[in-house]
Amino acid sequence: MEGRSRCSVGSAMAIVSLSLPSMPCEVRVMQCEFCDGQTKLKAVKRQHWLNGKLYIVENVEAEVCTACGERYFHAKTLDAIDELLLKQHVVEKTLDVEVVRFHREAA
Ligand SMILES: [Zn+2]
Repeated sequence: MEGRSRCSVGSAMAIVSLSLPSMPCEVRVMQCEFCDGQTKLKAVKRQHWLNGKLYIVENVEAEVCTACGERYFHAKTLDAIDELLLKQHVVEKTLDVEVVRFHREAA
């Protein structure tokens, strides 16, 4: 992945808490694309990139596969995160993040 080499600068991450406007809660079971397991609606922590900045967003609604743990986010949830981050929001804390490159041969 040549295009990733430019990411090797220290970047700051912000942790924000997402309080979603109470959305109509559709109870519906999704099937996992990878293992055909069933998903369950859960509140998770999501790494979210917006305009070249990384945010950790807590309390994000996701469908999580009960078998393999794969997470699926609804498009409207992702839009709501973008919206939250673009306007004034409460930052719970800021972290320093290490960006490292994985070398398969370095053992
Ligand atoms: Zn799965």
